[in-house]
Amino acid sequence: MLQHVAIVGSGPSGLFCADALIRQNPALKIDVIDRLPTPYGLVRFGVAPDHQGTKAVTRQFDRLFTNPNIRFLGRLEIGTDLPLGVLQAHYDAVVLAVGAHQDRPLEIPGADLAGVYGSMAFVGWYNGHPDFADLNPQLSNSIAIIGQGNVAVDIARLLAKTPAELAASDLCAHAAAAIQAAGITDIYMIGRRGPIEASFTSAELAELGKLERLRPVLRKSDLPDSIPAGLDPNEAKVKERNLQLLHEYASRTDEKPVTLHFLFHSAPLELVGNGRVEGLHVAGGTRPLAVGTVISAIGYHTAPKGDLPAAASNGRLPNSDGLIAPGLYVVGWAKRGPSGTIPTNRSEAKAVADRLLADFASDAAPAKLGSAGLDAWLKQQGIAVLDFAAWKHIEAAEIAAARPGAPREKLARWADLMAIQAQQQAQQ
Ligand code: NAP
Repeated sequence: MLQHVAIVGSGPSGLFCADALIRQNPALKIDVIDRLPTPYGLVRFGVAPDHQGTKAVTRQFDRLFTNPNIRFLGRLEIGTDLPLGVLQAHYDAVVLAVGAHQDRPLEIPGADLAGVYGSMAFVGWYNGHPDFADLNPQLSNSIAIIGQGNVAVDIARLLAKTPAELAASDLCAHAAAAIQAAGITDIYMIGRRGPIEASFTSAELAELGKLERLRPVLRKSDLPDSIPAGLDPNEAKVKERNLQLLHEYASRTDEKPVTLHFLFHSAPLELVGNGRVEGLHVAGGTRPLAVGTVISAIGYHTAPKGDLPAAASNGRLPNSDGLIAPGLYVVGWAKRGPSGTIPTNRSEAKAVADRLLADFASDAAPAKLGSAGLDAWLKQQGIAVLDFAAWKHIEAAEIAAARPGAPREKLARWADLMAIQAQQQAQQ
């Protein structure tokens, strides 16, 4: 019996799940649905533009869509254009791989001042996300990044790199120009806890020490001599290496044009300014830090949308090992929260795929209509989706527009993306 699976979200967790499903049951029909006309979610819009090696996983994802049993349906939003209930009526199983698209709120006075941005919008802006292409952030020469995770590190690195260091990246031209024009001299990375608790990983921290014009600075007195006993061995390895790197940074005396100030035990207390941010009070400080831009990189949660299940207070969709309700599953950040690297999603999505297939095997209900049912519903509603061929047109246009040495110049605006669709339809 044929079975039909819809996966909502074409980021790494959704596509690793599709991969695990089709490998084990090549007869499955899988529709991967995305709100955007471009696939790959976090790989395209979250992974830093200068980490092209990490983005290479898209080659594996591309191969999935050469399988005639797997379709991409772009520009279709579940919960708004298409109610989840309708999708469930047509598919034997639905997997939500919708990610975590909302910034955790920065709950301090002044967080609503102009010049304060969440990392979702800021990273989306420099990574060509069409919702944020026109963010046009006010970048001052002195910038605070709140949070000490890998997103904060990505942002600091991209703000400090020279054009030559960014040559092989796909940082959007609009962002590259704005960053270089800002004349950045000081970046503050604000942590409310200490260096051992900071959540950045060692490879990312090490990169900050190798940049042409960035000098990391920190107080030696903030650094313990060794890591505490009793940490899990893998965690201990990372913390030990982090501490070693931070000690090395603290003893540097070289002069560089951009200073990255690591501030530990410095919980953000209040943002001040007359209409736009001018200063940040942190715990233990005597005066506000003079900053004209603040980027809050303190994590994400899953946003409510139409008839999708509501996230719990921890920002995740309530589930039991990936199962939300019979026939409804969840993977990725919507399942476990915003943590882990891209490969983390591979094993996790496979475990959910295994569970789904086991449930299929024990389910005697007749198979549903799948794509035939959905296509008829979309036709009836007058909704046109963008398929994988449309994405390939977008990709070809991006590659053609790339500056020399860069992999692509992303089409960052809705109008440009939809114009490609119109061109494609005209050619058909
Ligand atoms: P994260 O690792 O959870 O870091 C969030 C940071 O924000 C922490 O330092 C946290 O401090 C701080 N924070 C949270 N709430 C705060 C508050 N109210 N006030 C002040 N600080 C607050 O999250 P992320 O950086 O967004 O990254 C998300 C995931 O993606 C992580 O697993 C990360 O490793 C991964 N990622 C990986 C890469 C890479 O591999 N290159 C790149 C980017 C992201 P506390 O610990 O005190 O809560």
